[in-house]
Amino acid sequence: MALNRCEACERISSCSVCGRRVTGFDHIGVRASTQRREAHDLSLRSAPHGSGIWHFSRPCGHRISSPKVSPRVKYNGGPLWKDGYSWQSIYWGSYFTTANSSSWIKRIETAILNIETDQAYSGGLSEYNVGRGRIVPYTIIKKDPPTKVSDVQIKQTLAGWISQGTVSNFGSAGAYNIFLPPGVTALLSPLEASCKVFCDYHNTVNGMDGPFYTVEPYPCAKGCNHCTNDPFDTLTQGLSEEMVELKTDMDPGSGWVIGNEEICDYCDANFVCNRISTGEYVNAWYDKGKNACWRGTPTANIEPFSTGVEPGQSRIGTRV
Ligand SMILES: [Zn+2]
Ligand SMILES: [Zn+2]
Repeated sequence: MALNRCEACERISSCSVCGRRVTGFDHIGVRASTQRREAHDLSLRSAPHGSGIWHFSRPCGHRISSPKVSPRVKYNGGPLWKDGYSWQSIYWGSYFTTANSSSWIKRIETAILNIETDQAYSGGLSEYNVGRGRIVPYTIIKKDPPTKVSDVQIKQTLAGWISQGTVSNFGSAGAYNIFLPPGVTALLSPLEASCKVFCDYHNTVNGMDGPFYTVEPYPCAKGCNHCTNDPFDTLTQGLSEEMVELKTDMDPGSGWVIGNEEICDYCDANFVCNRISTGEYVNAWYDKGKNACWRGTPTANIEPFSTGVEPGQSRIGTRV
């Protein structure tokens, strides 16, 4: 059973898009793209934009604007990541069998290990009673995903891989980072496509029982990297955020949240480019002990936030 209702949506009885009665909501932890919205695209213009816990009405599937709740850090009692839990990467598609991709995969695997073992970055999450995991060897799925793959298809496919033994079976004691090849779009609804409205996300197949996963589309050209133009940096910014948010809020909305946001979403508002000690760009998480967003070490060669800001993106750089 996925989380049906949270504090933000408990009083909502009808879908704000179609008016149908709702029986509950699917909650998904999403990092929004900051691409400029095209004025002619009404579906996007009227859509709620920020990173956070996105709400999809049941049974109609429409995404509603995230309801307002007070922005205080709160734990809702759901599962949290423990020491010794496992990460496995799943590289989905024949693209990842090519010689060119093997160095890309190697860089990503090194980054995952560095992110997960970084004392300050992932170690600091102990204040949320979150541990650090181990990294098990990755899997390449040679069969290509559809060019448009929905989250429902991803859930079904992941469950199939686990039952067939194609990937490890962690039960609820681990998670998968699912990497999509170039040219494949992930869809949260027919209107909500990767790179167009979001960069990446994390979710669960069966609520608090997992399996838990992040979805990392091939790095978007725009809207998902506020620090550099390097696709690898785009990837690690998104991946670090989804890993942190998966660990602190495994079933989106049931763990540590700040209103409708997870702990990195909150820091998107005063975005600062940060790197961990091994040099990878990472997105900051809210440090409740310091009442501030996480900062990398001063020696980590931090560049000021200067590129990637687009007019009208008020959530970046201005939190009031
Ligand atoms: Zn909710
Ligand atoms: Zn609806």
